[in-house]
Parts: sequence; structure tokens; C-alpha cells
Amino acid sequence: MKVVIIGAGVAGLGIGWRLLQAGAQVTILDRGLPAQGASWAAAGMLALIAELQEAPAAERELALQSSDLWPGFAAELEQASGLGIGLVQGGALLLSDDAARLDALDGRGQVVDAAGAQALAPMLAAGVTCGLWVADEARVDNRALGDALTTAFLKAGGTLLTQEAAVTIESHSGATSVMTPYARHYADAVVIAAGAWSGLLGDIPIAPVKGEMIALAPPDGEDLPGPVIWGNGVYLVPRETDGERRLLVGASMEEKGFDTRLSPEVQDRLRASAEAVIPTLKNWTLTDHWAGLRPKSPDGLPLLGVLRDNIFVAGGQFRNGILLAPVIADAMAGLVLGKNKINPAFDPRRFG
Ligand SMILES: Cc1cc2nc3c(=O)[nH]c(=O)nc-3n(C[C@H](O)[C@H](O)[C@H](O)COP(=O)(O)OP(=O)(O)OC[C@H]3O[C@@H](n4cnc5c(N)ncnc54)[C@H](O)[C@@H]3O)c2cc1C
Repeated sequence: MKVVIIGAGVAGLGIGWRLLQAGAQVTILDRGLPAQGASWAAAGMLALIAELQEAPAAERELALQSSDLWPGFAAELEQASGLGIGLVQGGALLLSDDAARLDALDGRGQVVDAAGAQALAPMLAAGVTCGLWVADEARVDNRALGDALTTAFLKAGGTLLTQEAAVTIESHSGATSVMTPYARHYADAVVIAAGAWSGLLGDIPIAPVKGEMIALAPPDGEDLPGPVIWGNGVYLVPRETDGERRLLVGASMEEKGFDTRLSPEVQDRLRASAEAVIPTLKNWTLTDHWAGLRPKSPDGLPLLGVLRDNIFVAGGQFRNGILLAPVIADAMAGLVLGKNKINPAFDPRRFG
């Protein structure tokens, strides 16, 4: 079977890797370089509680499945690519002044008082009153994940055509092809995994939601916090890559089309919000500021399934596309090969 995938983010690369392992012939087209879209811009949290506690049951179930797949997926990917992806089960601490709300979220975590929160993250501001400690929440280095998926895809025999944008998908007399400025690529199946840009390829209700983030580096002698910390409208994600230590602070949420310009006001707001959580961040150095586009559907749930005939969509993961990468890879590869179905709650045609 010959499959063309549009988009080399974690979704397209993961699906392509799984399809190659099942014996398909796979070409991925990307209008830029691989894994430089939202998959690069993300914070890498596998945030089951903070992001998904209040999500519809179908999405929570998908996220739980993916979370269960993550350790095996990471080990297999590291082995196949020869690259580390920094999966860390460092826990997450959700700060709040509202103990009742934390009690309601208490399914997988443990409510801690001010002293308990300080014990988990001693650098917290003195005014913290309580938090929810979720010991088994994990995070991954999403940029390393993108590199590893690209390498694993290529090592498994995939074809990756970069800087070649899909312009249209055409079906004539039973033959489906993807047109780019350079060629027509015929396929038995086409998977649209073009992230926030998927809607530009047809009647696919996915819109971009801009997110800006910053990174702060500690002065010599100061440690990164151990867990991910959520509080005061921001999240703080410790990241160590090749000895370089950074605290990622995110993220803004704005519907501004495809505009990814950086805003000094957002930068200041993220920094000030983070400093209110950990006052010593005032002494840390701002090392980076970036933006990405989350792919969002009208109901906020992913779009996973058949669009029409032999054309499939894997998108709309919104704030959780890194968390969902393993389950989307398995489920979409299985669907394309006719081996499994996907929960109709994610049907791309559900909006009529
Ligand atoms: C600031 C921010 C923080 C986030 N934090 C987290 C987090 O902590 N945890 C989490 O789980 N998720 C997080 N997310 C969400 C996550 O990043 C996305 O849901 C996920 O990366 C989407 O993956 P994707 O492969 O579908 O899209 P992308 O990574 O955007 O990849 C799409 C690819 O398609 C290509 N493309 C587009 N149009 C075409 C075309 N016409 N032809 C060819 N190629 C095309 C693009 O160049 C791109 O490479 C965050 C997102 C942002 C922006």
C-alpha cells in the first residue's frame, strides 16, 4: 500500500513510522522542515490532570490510553532512532487558592497544604496556600521527540520530502493524488496531518490558536524545580537538554489566524506571572521567546478518521498533541490499513 502523509509533525511522523513498520510504502510531504511546527513550539507536558480532567470522557479515555503507551513508545523510539527524547516522570504540582476545586480534581493526585507544596518545590513564593500533587505526570523533550521520529521514520525506509507543500488533493477515476508545486504524488491513501494548517487543504474544521512561550536559564548554583508547576495562569516546565538547563514558561492563547509574531507584552506577562509563583526567577536570564500554532477543532476534540473515500485526517489535537502522539500513531495507522476503527466522537465529519 502506498500512503502519502501531508505534514511532518509528531502526528504525521508517528503515523508514518507505524505504517512503515506494518509494511506500507510511505512518503511524507512538509512545506518546511520536519517537526518545526507546533510540535517544536510545545512544552512537552503529558498533562493528564491539568489539561484533561474536565474534558469529555472520550478525550480523557484517548489521553489515558496514550499515557499508558508512552513508556513503551519512548523506549522503542529511542532504540529505533538512537536518540534520547527525555521522557521524565517528574510529577506535576497544581497550585490553587481553592482547596475545594483541588479536592474535586483529586482522582489521581494528592492535595497538599502550603508546607507540602514547599517541600515539593522549595523555591515557591511564601503566599502559596495549597496544591494538588500528581506524582505520575510525565513530560518529554518535544524537540528531541521530533528529531527522533524523523530519524526513525527515515531509518525505517520512509521518504521525507521537505519544503514541498501540498496544494490540493485530487481524486479522478479512482486514483487519488496530492499536488505540490513540483509533482503529483499518487497514493492508495492520503493522511492530512498538517496541524493548524490542515483547514487550508479542504473542508476540514481546524483553526490555529497561537501560543507564545519563554525560556529562563538559572544563574550558576540555582536548581530547576523538580516537577512541572501550574499556578497564577502559567505553567513552568523544567527542561535539561545536553547539559543546558532551562525553565519553559507558557503559554498565551490567542486566535489571530496564522500570525506568529512575538509580543513584548506577552513576554512581560509570562515572566511576571512566573515570578509571582517563584520570586527568585527575577534573577534568571531570559534566553528565548517563541510562538506556535495549536490545531483546534470547533468542539476542541481531535479529528481522527476518514474525511472522504481514501483521504484521512489526523488533527485538532489542540493543547495535547504531544501527549496524544503514541495513540494517534497506532490508531491512525491501523485505520488506514483497515485493521481498526476509531471512536466516532473523533469523526472528522461530525460537524456536518
Ligand atoms: C505553545 C504551545 C505549547 C504546547 N504545549 C503542549 C504540551 O505541553 N503538551 C502537549 O501534548 N501538546 C502541547 N501543545 C500542542 C501540540 O504542540 C500540538 O497539538 C501538536 O504538536 C500538533 O502536532 P501536529 O503534528 O498535528 O502539528 P505540527 O507539529 O504543527 O505539524 C504540522 C506540519 O504540517 C506541515 N504543513 C502544514 N501545511 C502543509 C502543507 N500544505 N503541505 C505540507 N506540509 C504542511 C507544517 O509545516 C508542519 O510541519 C502545545 C502547542 C503550543 C503551540
